[in-house]
Parts: sequence; structure tokens; C-alpha cells
Amino acid sequence: MQLVCLDLEGVLVPEIWIEFADRTGIPELRRTTRDEPDYGKLMRGRLALLEQHKLGLPDIQKVIAAMGPMPGAREFLDDLRLRFQVIILSDTFYEFAMPLMQQLGLPTLFCHKLETDARGFVVNYRLRMPNQKMESVRRFKEINFKVIAAGDSYNDTAMLGEAHAGILFHPPESVIREFPQYPVTMNYAELDAEIRKASERI
Ligand SMILES: [Mg+2]
Repeated sequence: MQLVCLDLEGVLVPEIWIEFADRTGIPELRRTTRDEPDYGKLMRGRLALLEQHKLGLPDIQKVIAAMGPMPGAREFLDDLRLRFQVIILSDTFYEFAMPLMQQLGLPTLFCHKLETDARGFVVNYRLRMPNQKMESVRRFKEINFKVIAAGDSYNDTAMLGEAHAGILFHPPESVIREFPQYPVTMNYAELDAEIRKASERI
């Protein structure tokens, strides 16, 4: 039995924080772990900015829903799900991802959770566990799945390494250079072909 695990942001949907920053005109929200390596500090700063700009969860979800998935993502995923069980492993939060997941036909998503107060402001975030992408793949292997994993960035490489087959999708040059062991795909047709190849090999 084979399982395909896909990253979400940068593979099926845009980078949520970056796209959100552009759409709301709050450039400080473009900061990522590359600018602020302390994730806790980065997230607390983001939540403070949201409150400062009076953006509650319903406002945030409206902006995210309007982003939509990447062109062709829904068709790629629908076709893939006819042939494989697919699980999306992401470091985003359910509350952010759900408007986009609806547009993707509600595939299974494992990610993290936000806490809101009575006014609808996001007050805290809860990471389900550290390294959940890699840990999930490890558990799927323990229950006898052969796993093919695909992602676009550094936070996917542990998952790609744990899987029976790892594939990069539209990665930055630095990731291609540092992880030459993974095939690089640049569009859905190439990713689909690479998944088919891996499926025959593993
Ligand atoms: Mg990604």
C-alpha cells in the first residue's frame, strides 16, 4: 500500500504569510524564519501585528479564501487521489488553511492549531508536536505504508529523507544545491511523472 504525503504551501497553495502580507499591505508580515530564526518570537510578532491592524480570524480567513490554490492544483490533486491515498503535511494552522482546503476538495490535512479569544483575535498558537512532517511519515511506515513525499523547502527535507521516495517541487536554488539526492520537479506534470516513477520503484 502506497501513500503520498504532500507539503501544502509552495506546492498546492501560495505561501500564506507572504501572500497575506501583500494582500493586506502589512509588509512586516513577510518576515519568515529566515529573517527571525526564533519561531516563537516570529509568531508572537505576527499575532501582535494582526491585533494591531484589528484583523480577527474571520477577516484573515476572508483574505486567505480569496488567494485560492495555485492554478492546476485542484486538478492535480483530484487525479492523484484517484490513484493514491494522499495526506497533506503542513506547518500552517487549520484556521488559516481551511478556506483553501475547501477549494481543494477537502483532502486530509495534518497541521497545527490557533487559539482565539471571544473577540475573534488570534491570541496563541499550538504546535501539535515538533518535526510533525517527518514523525508522521515515520508512523505511516510503522503501519506498513510505502511513502512518497513531496515538498518545496527546508522544512520538508526531513520528511523527504524519512520517506521511501522524496521529491522536490519548485524548490529554491539553495535547496536544490544542498539536497542533490532528490529529483527536482517544476510543475504538476513533472511531479505527477516523478510520483509514478517512485511508485514503480519502491
Ligand atoms: Mg512549503
